[in-house]
Amino acid sequence: MAETGIVAAMVGVRQPFQIQRWPVPEPEPGAVLVKVRLANICGSDLHLWKGHYIPADPGTPKLRSVGHEMCGSVAKLGEGVTHDSAGQPLKEGDRVVYCYFVPCRHCRVCLKQQTPHCPHGMRFRLPPDRWPHFNAAYGQYYYLRPGQALFKIPDNVSDDLAAPANCALAQVIDGLEEANAGFGDSVVIQGAGGLGVAAAAVARERGVRQTIVIDRVDDRLQMALAFGADHVIDMKIFTSPEQRIAQVKKLTDGWGADVVLEVTGRAEAVPEGIEMLGGGGVYAEIGCICEKEMCTIDPSALVLGGKKVLGLMWYKTESLLKAMHFLAAHQGTYPFNQLIAKRYPLTAINEAMAAQDAGKVHRSSLDPWLEV
Ligand SMILES: [Zn+2]
Ligand SMILES: [Zn+2]
Repeated sequence: MAETGIVAAMVGVRQPFQIQRWPVPEPEPGAVLVKVRLANICGSDLHLWKGHYIPADPGTPKLRSVGHEMCGSVAKLGEGVTHDSAGQPLKEGDRVVYCYFVPCRHCRVCLKQQTPHCPHGMRFRLPPDRWPHFNAAYGQYYYLRPGQALFKIPDNVSDDLAAPANCALAQVIDGLEEANAGFGDSVVIQGAGGLGVAAAAVARERGVRQTIVIDRVDDRLQMALAFGADHVIDMKIFTSPEQRIAQVKKLTDGWGADVVLEVTGRAEAVPEGIEMLGGGGVYAEIGCICEKEMCTIDPSALVLGGKKVLGLMWYKTESLLKAMHFLAAHQGTYPFNQLIAKRYPLTAINEAMAAQDAGKVHRSSLDPWLEV
């Protein structure tokens, strides 16, 4: 009988995940079979489980593969795969990170060289009953399609640090790069969750003049300061958008921010973030991924001063490699060890999801080889 492995499958909105067993696939030429070492529960996985995404197709199956933040080790290389995407030799057993999305390279977005925003990037996240069965992070294996980017993990970067890097860290590295945040700039970060605190550290290493982080939770604001924020704006003290905008203006010589990064995931953050920009500034929108959550903006705030809004879906492949280099060099500069998620066996996924949803744990991670 073929070798099998387990997958934690979503069977419906807010329904307990089901542990299923599926045959381990043989990698086709150009593909890589990865043994998942650790997978994290991201806020967006919780959104999916809670039914916050509106399926584009009413025929979307109830059985779904879930999870995207992960790292693993090479279980088997498909024919022709000898190196990672940075040209480093690759062998079975090597620890690796990889992009969870795969640009199609054949659509109008890809044609414009905007592959990180390809609308078909998740077309391979098939339900677990479809070959190759291991189509997302919550399983013992993950199947990398031919051409899907992967990088070796530096020896000094632990699984705990590497697993979330293909979402939060790579995303904010890319966002700050696309917004061109650099020397002399004032950067505002709306939201001090995983993405926000990582962004504070990345902004500092990009040489910005100052970083201002906005949140309402004391622990998160403290974490932002530990991750290099120069100022925080506590929403419990600055309770209205007008007060927060005025505070940003005060901290930026009356001018406003050069870059505002939105990582709260809340639509109401957008109008006030745009108002925080100075002339020529860039608003980088990353967090709002749930459709039909609306806000009202004053478009003249964009026209006056020629401000730009960037929507950032995913990131350039290179940003994941930069995330690995960043962790290898700076894991001791910032308290990344305080962001480490609480580990659960994959088979305890329902407990882990519930704990994270209730705010009992900062973040949960799933080890698919623990207590199986
Ligand atoms: Zn994520
Ligand atoms: Zn495409």
